[in-house]
Amino acid sequence: MDWIEEELDGLADASIKRSLRTYSAVSDSAGRMMRGDNMLLNLSSNDYLGLARHPAIIEAMREALLTEGAGSGASRLVTGNRLPYSRLEEELADWQSCEAGLVFANGYMANSGVISGLVNRGDVVFSDQLNHASIVDGVILSRAEHARYRHNDMEHLRALLTKFRHKRRKLIVTDAIFSMDGDAAPLRELAAIKREYGAMLMVDEAHSGGIYGRRGEGLCHELGIQDDVDIHMGTFSKSFGIYGAYICGSRTLIQWLVNKARPLIYSTALPPSIVAGISKAMDLVQTDHWRRERLYEASRLFRSLLRAAGFTIDDGDSPIIPVIVGDNDIALRFSSALEEKGIAAAAIRPPTVPDGTARIRFSLSAVHTVQELTDAASHIRIIGQQLGVLVRP
Ligand SMILES: *Cc1c(COP(=O)(O)O)cnc(C)c1O
Repeated sequence: MDWIEEELDGLADASIKRSLRTYSAVSDSAGRMMRGDNMLLNLSSNDYLGLARHPAIIEAMREALLTEGAGSGASRLVTGNRLPYSRLEEELADWQSCEAGLVFANGYMANSGVISGLVNRGDVVFSDQLNHASIVDGVILSRAEHARYRHNDMEHLRALLTKFRHKRRKLIVTDAIFSMDGDAAPLRELAAIKREYGAMLMVDEAHSGGIYGRRGEGLCHELGIQDDVDIHMGTFSKSFGIYGAYICGSRTLIQWLVNKARPLIYSTALPPSIVAGISKAMDLVQTDHWRRERLYEASRLFRSLLRAAGFTIDDGDSPIIPVIVGDNDIALRFSSALEEKGIAAAAIRPPTVPDGTARIRFSLSAVHTVQELTDAASHIRIIGQQLGVLVRP
């Protein structure tokens, strides 16, 4: 086993070794947490709408815990399919305006299970180069041809669709909002291309569900292309503030997945309390429009503050805002310096992002105040200058 230590040393030398850090909650603040004795503003959480500590959700979970017990006891196809599941799946289909919905334990299992359930040897998956790792792993599990197109490059996608036109089934899959860059996929064009080439289209709304659309349905609804999407995927772990994931689509698709998605079939059903909490969160996601508004405002404000400080920041209103520093070691030092100033913001390094694009990935929440974001931006500017990331005075 000596090789492991040698490899770990190699990771450390390249500043890409990872280790776990422990945080504890601050009971009256959704936007803050503790590390040791340090109170930190959490600028690296996916609790976009600030629902993770919502009293009504916690109460719904508590009630279900008392009536249904701690665990579901079995996989859904055996005896784990408790009442809260069927209730949630009806609400889910209604929310997404689809014929049917299916709950998965998490987004990783939904993506890996659905892709490997839909395509096989002899098929092909066209996947954006910056798609989430769970999509990549789904393609690998499926044994289908993996045709990765350059990020958001529709010409490249068309070229690959032409090249692999003889394959049996074709699946195009993309994140709606990319998790490490916060930019959007060209969904209208993808909808047109999928029709033109007779492919299936799957969209992962992990970072757009709850945030876009009149009832928080996601970016596909916001753009009005939801009916062109064959497989809608989203999570309950980000905007919903809990855990879990969903697939929505036709009744036929869902029946197929119940038969073929191995992570659904061979794994224990989520605890009923989680499922009941998701139902409550789904009400709030649809009706608490102010949370979305607050999040857009926070995103625009933070982007303009960082831009004024001299960083290169894309336009947009997604809550994911990266400051790309390039070098792995600088990214780590940037993150540590921020922590000393009471800000938690993760250094994201390869292989999560391409080589040479290490970054601090900020993610905002509706609970962050203007004052908190303004103060954070000024610390970020000063540290950026100290580390030589910002050349402008
Ligand atoms: C977080 C994420 C997932 C995985 O979801 P989990 O519920 O955390 O397993 C899938 N896709 C994307 C784009 C994500 O960002």
